[in-house]
Amino acid sequence: MTAPSRRIPGEAVAEGVGRIPGFVNCYTVISGGETYLIDTGFSRKAGSIVRAFQDAQVPLDRLTKILLTHHHVDHMGGAAYLTHNTPATLACHADDAPFVEGRAKMPVSPFMRLFMRVRPTPVASALKDGDRVGPLLVVHVPGHTPGEVAFYDPGQKLLFSGDSVVENRGRLTLPAPRFATNLEQAIRSLERLRALDVKTLLPGHGTPVVKNVGPLLDDLIRRAPTDFLPRPPP
Ligand SMILES: [Zn+2]
Ligand SMILES: [Zn+2]
Repeated sequence: MTAPSRRIPGEAVAEGVGRIPGFVNCYTVISGGETYLIDTGFSRKAGSIVRAFQDAQVPLDRLTKILLTHHHVDHMGGAAYLTHNTPATLACHADDAPFVEGRAKMPVSPFMRLFMRVRPTPVASALKDGDRVGPLLVVHVPGHTPGEVAFYDPGQKLLFSGDSVVENRGRLTLPAPRFATNLEQAIRSLERLRALDVKTLLPGHGTPVVKNVGPLLDDLIRRAPTDFLPRPPP
C-alpha cells in the first residue's frame, strides 16, 4: 500500500496550497481531507484545472468545494462545468449569490454586462463575514462587487485576495474602476485587509507577493483615492 498522495494540483505556493496561474489565478487548498478550489477562471480554464489535478495525481472527484471570491465571469466561468463534473459544491458570499445564480442583473452598466455573461450556477452555501471554511476565514471586502470576499488562512498567514487587491509589476493595485460597483467602498475594504497579519498575498490577478505585503498595501491605500476616485470639478 502506498502512502496517500501529498501532491497539490498547481504550483506549490504554501503548505497544501497550489496555484494554477493564468489571466486569473485559481488556487487549490488541501486540508483536513477536503480539497478546495478558490475561483475557476473563465470557462475555458476548466481544462487547465483538470490537467493540474491529473499532473498531481489527485483525482478530480476529491474536489469538495469551490469557493468564489466574487461573481465575475473571469472568476466563476468554469463553475458550471466543475460542479457538473465533480462532487464539488459552490460557495460564495450571500451578496454575490443572486448574480452567480442568475437571479439578479449585475450591478454594472448594460455595456459592461455584455462582457460579463455567466452560466448561472446554484450556490450551495452562502458565506458571510467571519465564516470559517476549513482553514480559511471569510473576510467580506465589498466594493469591487457587493459580495467580494478574501479568504485568510491565519495558520500560514496567507491571503487569497480575489479582486479586492491585485498585483501588477511588483505593486498592489485595484482592478479597472469600470468593473467596480462602489470604488469608495473598495478603497475602505483595503483597510480591512491591512488589519490582517499577511505573509503571502495570493491575488486573483498577477503574481503572489511573498514579502513586504503590509508596506505595499499601505502604499496602495495612500494613493488609491487620487489614482482611482474621480476628481471633483475645479
Ligand atoms: Zn472581478
Ligand atoms: Zn478578475
